Amino acid sequence: MKPKIWLSSPHMSGNELPYIHEAFESNWVAPLGPNVNSFETDLQSYLEEDRHVAALASGTSALHLSLILLGVENGDEVICQSKTFSASANPIVYQGATPIFVDSERETWNMCPVQLEIAITDRLSKGIKPKAIIAVHLYGMPYKVDEINAVALKYDIPVIEDSAESLGSLYKGQKCGTFGDFSILSFNGNKIITTSGGGALVTKTLKQKEKAVFLATQARDDAPHYLHSHIGYNYRMSNIVAGIGRGQMTILDSHVARRRSNHEFYVNALKNNDNIVFLQEPDGYFSNRWLSCILLNSKSTREGLRLALEKENIESRPLWKPMHQQPVFKTAPSYLNGVSDELFEKGLCLPSGSNLTDAELDRVMTTIKTYFSK
Ligand SMILES: *Cc1c(COP(=O)(O)O)cnc(C)c1O
Repeated sequence: MKPKIWLSSPHMSGNELPYIHEAFESNWVAPLGPNVNSFETDLQSYLEEDRHVAALASGTSALHLSLILLGVENGDEVICQSKTFSASANPIVYQGATPIFVDSERETWNMCPVQLEIAITDRLSKGIKPKAIIAVHLYGMPYKVDEINAVALKYDIPVIEDSAESLGSLYKGQKCGTFGDFSILSFNGNKIITTSGGGALVTKTLKQKEKAVFLATQARDDAPHYLHSHIGYNYRMSNIVAGIGRGQMTILDSHVARRRSNHEFYVNALKNNDNIVFLQEPDGYFSNRWLSCILLNSKSTREGLRLALEKENIESRPLWKPMHQQPVFKTAPSYLNGVSDELFEKGLCLPSGSNLTDAELDRVMTTIKTYFSK
């Protein structure tokens, strides 16, 4: 069997271990410490806007805390992009609230502003005002920030920006992760930078960050004994994990460049293949190209190609199955236009890691070309 080519695997820089050694030597082996603080500062300076960052155990916990900070409770409704990974929607249910799914538009594959407004006016007509909107920059492609924000502003509903896949992406020159009332980042093993597992909440005020950290560290009130007036969570990032994050921040830009060059490679190599369409960057959009995705002309071509790659020990994956199609969310109200269903049928994510070698990219390309030559 040929060696496995992964969709998106961890890519260490070599700068991580010194921070981990430092943590061991100073005995900061705990969910707090100098690496946690410095990783937060690194992220804050990277994002460039006046934002505050709380390092957490995962992107999912960051989404959960953002819903709590927005006061989402049992019986509330929260709007969520349907075309996403399930972690965008699950925390809505943790709060006992109902997800309302909104379909995508074709230009960025992200939340459609037209469907968003239809969803909001329909919920309002039923007497319910959604408590938040979770919009996602899927695969690193920014969503239509201005259009989504305009709708959110018109109906006065806060936006949670799920930037788990889009660290390093830009919209009109501004970094993704700075557009929401709250924004979240993920450093899971498959993301553009990884801490093995981890995430962050990005807030507009220091007070919000402090509240998030308070809740993430078991909500201990100020007293010599353990005193609690809130339900707390164990969501803080470990100081060991944050050491990996500090090392990864040193190569974030080069990881973005590598992922973008993978995408360029695929576009150039396949430009004469009329069976394949790529997601283009609209004017003013800069995608980190976390995953390179293609659309085939039918579901059977997509599945055929996926199996041909699998036979060569190359991992690929259909585009995320929309949440409104997931068994677990089948009773959730959805506002649909058919776009995410079609993307799911025809779309495939290709190997996209920043650590892919030229030989590996060639192996992927040979397999694709052989499949279409039959
Ligand atoms: C990975 C991911 C998350 C969750 O992040 P974790 O750190 O794995 O909890 C949320 N939303 C999207 C879109 C993701 O891709």
